[in-house]
Amino acid sequence: MLNHYVQADQSEQTHRLHLAYLYPEQMNVYGDRGNVIALAQRCAWRGIALQVTPIQPGDQVDWPQFDLAFFGGGQDSGQGLIAADLLERQGSGLRAAIEDGLVMLAICGGYQLLGHYFLTHTGEKLAGLGALDVYTVGGKQRLIGNVVVAVELDGMPVRLVGFENHSGRTHHGPGVRPFGRVLVGYGDNDDRRAGGAVYRNCFGCYLHGSLLPKNPQLTDHLIRLALQRRYGMETFPAPLDSDLELKAQRAMLDRLG
Ligand code: GLN
Repeated sequence: MLNHYVQADQSEQTHRLHLAYLYPEQMNVYGDRGNVIALAQRCAWRGIALQVTPIQPGDQVDWPQFDLAFFGGGQDSGQGLIAADLLERQGSGLRAAIEDGLVMLAICGGYQLLGHYFLTHTGEKLAGLGALDVYTVGGKQRLIGNVVVAVELDGMPVRLVGFENHSGRTHHGPGVRPFGRVLVGYGDNDDRRAGGAVYRNCFGCYLHGSLLPKNPQLTDHLIRLALQRRYGMETFPAPLDSDLELKAQRAMLDRLG
């Protein structure tokens, strides 16, 4: 799956990484799947083979084999379809993997379900994994539009661009650190401050986009963390020519002021 997007000379691949793609059918809005494609492609360009395994409801999963995980956004109804499976079937294994430094990115609906719970705007309470110390409450008015979030990646300031559309407002507990600071848009809440949360190597935020194709610095950060964890690599292989990606990011930042 997805591997037909990736062009790389197999003979030159020196490292392998394995990514779990959680519930790709139920949790994929605004092209979130593009995050997986971006990870696979930027790995391939560096001679790293990224194997992608979709995790479907009912699957038995051996979490320690994974280096990366991706969990996209979804409608409340999509979240309702998989919340119990996530908690009951994947709960302890995925929580332990995150504790052990699994590199994970969760967007919007996925981010909400990594927290303690999501109380939807109709009053349905979906219990979450509790891997991130956050909880989410749905509001009547949706928070929609382009977003810019200032983050720091490997000691460098980066402005991430994305798009948000959610009813949920996410509140942080002391067990997470803020991922970034909102410059444009709402981010986690009406106060327009927090742009996502981080615990160990697990990142949650509201930025669709897709996020990673629009922000190659974050894609590379996640790959670097995964290589460090799996292979103990301190140096990162082959910087890529990201001129076009960075121009597109810059154009969006300029447009949003
Ligand atoms: N259903 C959730 C909400 O509305 C998540 C939305 C999303 O993933 N875009 O808050």
